[in-house]
Amino acid sequence: MGRYVYDFAEGNKDQKDLLGGKGANLAEMTRLGLPVPPGFTITTEACRAYLADGREPDSLAEEIDRHLALLEQTMGRTLGDPDDPLLVSVRSGAKFSMPGMMDTVLNIGLNDRSVEGLVRQSGGNERFAWDSYRRLLSMFGETVLGVHKDAFEDEIDRLKAERGAASDLDLTADDLRELTRAYERTIREHTGRDFPQEPREQLALAVRAVFDSWNTERATIYRRRERIPTDLGTAVNVGTMVFGNGGMDSGTGVAFTRDPATGAQGVYGDYLQNAQGEDVVAGIRNTVPLHDLKTIDKACFDQLMDIMATLEHHYRDLCDIEFTIEHGKLWMLQTRVGKRTAQAAFRIAVELVDEGLIDMDEALQRVTGAQLATLMFPQFNSEHERHLLGRGMNASPGAAVGKAVFDSTTAAEWAARGEDVILVRRETNPDDLKGMVAATGILTSRGGKTSHAAVVARGMGRTCVCGAESLDVDVKARRFTTSDGTVVSEGDVISINGTTGEVWQGEVPVMASHVVRHFEGDTSTEDATVRAVARVMDHADKRRRLGVHANADTPDDAARARRFGAQGIGLCRTEHMFLGDRRELVEHFIVAETREEHDAALDALLPLQRKDFLGIFEAMDGLPVTVRLIDPPLHEFLPDMTDLAVLVAHEDDAGKADSKHHKMLEAVKRLHEQNPMLGLRGVRLGIAMPGLFAMQTRAILEAAAERITAGGDPRPEIMVPLVATAEEFELVRAEIEKVAAEVTEEAGFEVPYAVGTMIELPRAVLAADSIAKTAQFFSFGTNDLTQMTWGFSRDDVESSFFSAYLDKGIFPVSPFETLDRDGVGALVRYAVEKGRGVRPDLHLGVCGEHGGDPESIHFFDEVGLDYVSCSPFRVPVARLEAGRASAG
Ligand code: PEP
Ligand code: MG
Repeated sequence: MGRYVYDFAEGNKDQKDLLGGKGANLAEMTRLGLPVPPGFTITTEACRAYLADGREPDSLAEEIDRHLALLEQTMGRTLGDPDDPLLVSVRSGAKFSMPGMMDTVLNIGLNDRSVEGLVRQSGGNERFAWDSYRRLLSMFGETVLGVHKDAFEDEIDRLKAERGAASDLDLTADDLRELTRAYERTIREHTGRDFPQEPREQLALAVRAVFDSWNTERATIYRRRERIPTDLGTAVNVGTMVFGNGGMDSGTGVAFTRDPATGAQGVYGDYLQNAQGEDVVAGIRNTVPLHDLKTIDKACFDQLMDIMATLEHHYRDLCDIEFTIEHGKLWMLQTRVGKRTAQAAFRIAVELVDEGLIDMDEALQRVTGAQLATLMFPQFNSEHERHLLGRGMNASPGAAVGKAVFDSTTAAEWAARGEDVILVRRETNPDDLKGMVAATGILTSRGGKTSHAAVVARGMGRTCVCGAESLDVDVKARRFTTSDGTVVSEGDVISINGTTGEVWQGEVPVMASHVVRHFEGDTSTEDATVRAVARVMDHADKRRRLGVHANADTPDDAARARRFGAQGIGLCRTEHMFLGDRRELVEHFIVAETREEHDAALDALLPLQRKDFLGIFEAMDGLPVTVRLIDPPLHEFLPDMTDLAVLVAHEDDAGKADSKHHKMLEAVKRLHEQNPMLGLRGVRLGIAMPGLFAMQTRAILEAAAERITAGGDPRPEIMVPLVATAEEFELVRAEIEKVAAEVTEEAGFEVPYAVGTMIELPRAVLAADSIAKTAQFFSFGTNDLTQMTWGFSRDDVESSFFSAYLDKGIFPVSPFETLDRDGVGALVRYAVEKGRGVRPDLHLGVCGEHGGDPESIHFFDEVGLDYVSCSPFRVPVARLEAGRASAG
C-alpha cells in the first residue's frame, strides 16, 4: 500500500512529481530552516488514485488523521477547537504551476463556535475573527461548493454601500458578522445545503475539491496550451494558518528576487497591510511597493531580504515568494522559480553567469526559442502621432493592437474568426483564461504586476498592461472611459504597450525590435537585453552540431537570412519566379502546340531565371544554395477555370471569339485535377513536360558559371521535389548531368554542383536506400510528408476539424506545426538509417516548416540530421534551439 501523506519536514525540491511544485518547495524551505508554518502534503499519487477510482484511496483519511494529529501536537491546538482552534489552509499544487486550478481555501477549521475561540485566541479581536470566518465561507463556497464568486461579491458590495465603506477595512466586526450570516444564506440558497460546520469534513471536502479541480475546463485548456500531460494529478498542501489580517502590524505580500518584467537586479514586489493572501493577487485593494515595508516593519523587511538572497543562491535562479507577517513575525508561504518575461529570461541567465551561480551551458537551458521569437516581435513606433488613453503597469512586454472586448467569451469568438482583440477587464480571474489565450493583449484597470492578469500573461508571452486606474471599465456596458472623457466601446481599436504600460487610441504603427536590429547589424539600440541575447546566441553557435540554413527565394531574403546567421539556403523555391510579369511566358509554355513554340517559351524564361539565381548566389557567396526545381501543378499559373469559361462564353456570344482564350481554356481543362496535391507536380512535371527542368538546371549552372568568372564562390545544389522512386530520380539526375556537361563545355571550366532529392512521400522513405545510391543529399519536406502520411490536406484541415482534434486531445498541437515524432518522425528516422546505410556521407537536412519549430529541432538533432532550414526570421530561433539541443 502506498503512502499518500508527507510532512513538510520530510521532502525536498526535487520531489515535484510526488509532492507537486508548491509542496516540494515548502519542504525545501523547511529543510533550509526558513520560517514555514508547519503542515503536510497529500501526494499527486493520491490524486491520481482518486481520479482513477472516483473515490479517495482507502487509507487516505486515516493517514490525514495521523498527520493532522501530529500537527495538532506540534502546534498545541486542535483543528476547529471551540476554545483555541487550530486553523489550516488547503492549497493545490501540481508539478507545474497551473492558474486554471483551484488555488487556496484559508481558515479551515472555523465554524460558528470556533470563531469565538479565535476571538479569544487573538486577544479579543472580534473583527479579525469574523473577517477570517467570512473569508472561509466565500472561498469554500466558491472553490469547494461551486457558488459563483459574484454571489459573495454582491453581498459585500451591498454591505459596503449601506455602510458608506470605501474599503473592506472600513467594515466593523458587527458588519463582518452580518456578512458571514449573509454568506451562509448565499451558500444555502445556491447549493441547497448548509456550510459544513464539522472541521474535519471541511478539510476532507476541500481536499477533494482540489483533486476535482484537476479536470475543470480551465485547467484542461491551460494544460493543452502549455503542453502539460493530462495524467499527472495535483498534490494538496495543508498548512497551519498564519494571519496577515490581525491588524496593521500584520500583512501579506508577494515578491520576486529580481524584476520579472525586465530582469533587472533588485527585489521587487507588493505588500498589503492587514490582509490575507488572496487580497494581493486578486488586486482588490491597492498594494504598496515592497520597499515600503522597510518603513512599516524594518526587522521583517531585513529578514525577508536575507531569505530572498538565500533562496536565490539556493535555487540559482529568480524566485518568487508569498509571505505573511503575523504581528511582526515573518512566515514564508510559498516559493518557486519564478515566471518571467522573455526579456528578463535572457538578462537573468547571463547575469547569473556573471555572478558565478551558473555556467553558459546552464544559461542556454534557461531560455527558449519561443522567448527569443517574442523578443523579435515588432515594437510601437514612438514617432507616430497618437492619443494616450491612460497608463498602467508594464506587466508583460510587447506591442499589441486589437479591438477592445470586455469578456472572455467575446474575445474567444472574435479571435476565432481571425480578429485581433485586446481583452479589457477591471481585473482578471481564472475564468478569463480562455479569453486571455485568445487575445493578443490584456488590459486591466486594477491590480499590480503580481495580479492574476500579469502573472498569467507573462507566462503565456501575451502583452499585458494592468492596473491602468484612470480607465473606468464598465464591463456590462462594454466600454471604458478615460480621465479626459474619451469613451472606448467594444470593437474600437486600441494599442497597448506592455513594455511601458501605455494605452493608445487606435492603431499605433509598429517597428522592428531591438533584437532584430542587432541581428541586422544595427547596434544603436543595444541594451542589457540585446547584449544578453547576443551572448547566449554566441554560446549556442559554439555548442550546436546542427547547421542552420534558410528558406529564401530572393536575394533580399537570402541576404537577411545571412545576417541572421544562416549558413546557406536549404530551400530556394523556384515557383515564385514563375509569377508576376512572367506569368505570360509560363502561359506560352503551357499552351505551346509546336516544338518551336515550346522551346521559344523556355528560351524566354531562361535568362530571367539565370538572373534570379545570380542574385541569390551573390548574396550567399561561399555558402550552399539548394535550389528546388519547380514543384506545384502548372494550373496554379493559369487563370481560374470558371473565370476563363465565363470570359470565353461572353466573347463567343458577342461574336468576338478570341482563339488565345479558347486555347487557354482548353489547357486549363486539360490540366484540371480533382486532387492537385496528388497530381501532376514535382518530379512528375519534370518528366511529363520535357525541357522544363533542363531549362532550370541550365539557368542555375550558367548563373554559377557567371559568378565563378566574376571571382565568386557559388555552391549550387539542385534538388528534385516529390520523388517517390529511384527511377524517377535517376531520369532527372541524368538530364541534369547532361545539361551540366554542356554548361561546363561552354564555360570552359568545371561548375561544381550536387544533386539530391526531397523526401516528402512515404514511398520515398521506404525506398530511401535505393534513392541514396545516386542522390548526394536528402532534404525532408516535412510539410508534404506530414500531409501524405496523415492524409491531411495541408491547405484545408487546420482551419476545419483540427480544433475538434485538439479539443479531444488526439494530438496536443497541429502536426503541421510540431513534428509528429511517433508517425512522421519515425519515417524520418527510417529514411536517415536507410539512406546513410547506403551512403554514409549522405548530407541530410529538413526544409519543411518544422525546421523552425523548437521542439522539432530537438528531434532533428537527435536523429542526426546535418542541418535544419527555416524562414529567415526563424533562423535565430533555430540557432538557439540547436545550441540547446547540443548542450542539453
Ligand atoms: C515540404 O513539403 O515540406 C516542402 C518544404 O515543400 P513545399 O512546402 O514547398 O511543398
Ligand atoms: Mg513539398
